[in-house]
Amino acid sequence: MSVEKASVIFKNIDILNDRFEVERNMFVGVKGGVIDYIGATCPEAKYDSEIYGSGKLLSPGFFNLHSHAAMTILRGYAENLPLHSWLHDKIFPFEARLIEQDVYNGVMLAAAEMLRFGTVSFSDMYMFGSATARAVYESGIKCNLSVPVFCFSESDEKNMPAHKELNEFMSEFKDAENITFEIAVHGEYTSTERAVRATAEYAKEKGLGAHIHLSETKKEHEECKARHGKTPAKYFADAGLFDVRTTAAHCVYVENYDLDILKEYAVSPALNPASNMKLASGFAPVPKMIEKGINICLGTDGAASSNNLNMQKDLYLLSIIYKAAFEDAAAIKYTDCLKAATINGAVAQDRLDTGVIKQGFRADLRMIDTDCPNMFPTTDIASNLVYALSGGENVLTMVDGRILYHNYEYYSIDIEKVKYEAEGSVRRIISELK
Ligand SMILES: [Zn+2]
Repeated sequence: MSVEKASVIFKNIDILNDRFEVERNMFVGVKGGVIDYIGATCPEAKYDSEIYGSGKLLSPGFFNLHSHAAMTILRGYAENLPLHSWLHDKIFPFEARLIEQDVYNGVMLAAAEMLRFGTVSFSDMYMFGSATARAVYESGIKCNLSVPVFCFSESDEKNMPAHKELNEFMSEFKDAENITFEIAVHGEYTSTERAVRATAEYAKEKGLGAHIHLSETKKEHEECKARHGKTPAKYFADAGLFDVRTTAAHCVYVENYDLDILKEYAVSPALNPASNMKLASGFAPVPKMIEKGINICLGTDGAASSNNLNMQKDLYLLSIIYKAAFEDAAAIKYTDCLKAATINGAVAQDRLDTGVIKQGFRADLRMIDTDCPNMFPTTDIASNLVYALSGGENVLTMVDGRILYHNYEYYSIDIEKVKYEAEGSVRRIISELK
């Protein structure tokens, strides 16, 4: 990471404070990677640079809790297909052609997109984890990184490539402060029970968190019940996986009983409203999750399914669709949504010193241009942040006090090279498939 940590004071800027209320005309100092001053007056301490914040708002950056970042290169490749055909006829054959450099190119493109729209950290599950780690390390964005276990038969159980691969790049990238390693089990339906148990043991031994897909589709959920006589949530809990900190993507078909399990084991559901709607998967029981005090988070899923990594779009969907799906306008408050997209995600990633604007916390921030028509009037600015923004108003993204994106410029990414190389990967694979 070549970008230095900034010593900068944001002056006369509105902030989304740690109670998720907007405070106007504030001063925020950043030094050594942390927020070292918040106040209504200018601090006496000196900073190397200043950013004038009139017409701007400083918010905690987004935490994207479920993605397959490399899949940006599959954006627009498979549209309007039922899930089975989408996967087997399009996605799997394309993925079979991927080489490590393609994954690197895809993750760099993803990092550029996430930084453009204010994401400071993401949780990822994909193959060629060392390529993902390299791109994450170079771009400076934070990542909870995992390589999914796929273990379809007993003969595969002795050789767990995902564990082996993780071991290798955990040592290669042990000094990368922005990367937290996790284990992943792709899903109940793609691994044997013994493989899940072995992965849970491996996670406990290494002190790692876990990332899984859980009850994304009705088919997956019902087939698990037929196969094991229990729901996927109960299955993973019994296999010991929930003994470690777990992020469970989707949770669309979880039942009441499953919600008790998620609560008991402090599992964080990563909701993906855009992906769930585009692939016609359904609606997660979000109101019940909130009622139970479950730590709901937000994710974009991969760009093959949701086509973009702009968290603002998922934030907006999260804030409205569950009201309609469950016929309850009070089903979710916009403050719940802001928390899901920020602090809850940070907690789920075990990053407990970030996710809010608070003195002493990490400077993982986005700055929004609020001097635009859709942000007026200023009756309730926090609600405007959820219901009225498009995402493109983000003008600055800072990770660990480093400015990585500012006014259409990237400081850790050669964006023209990244676009060119990602396009090259896709053209090569498509020509190979012909
Ligand atoms: Zn996924």
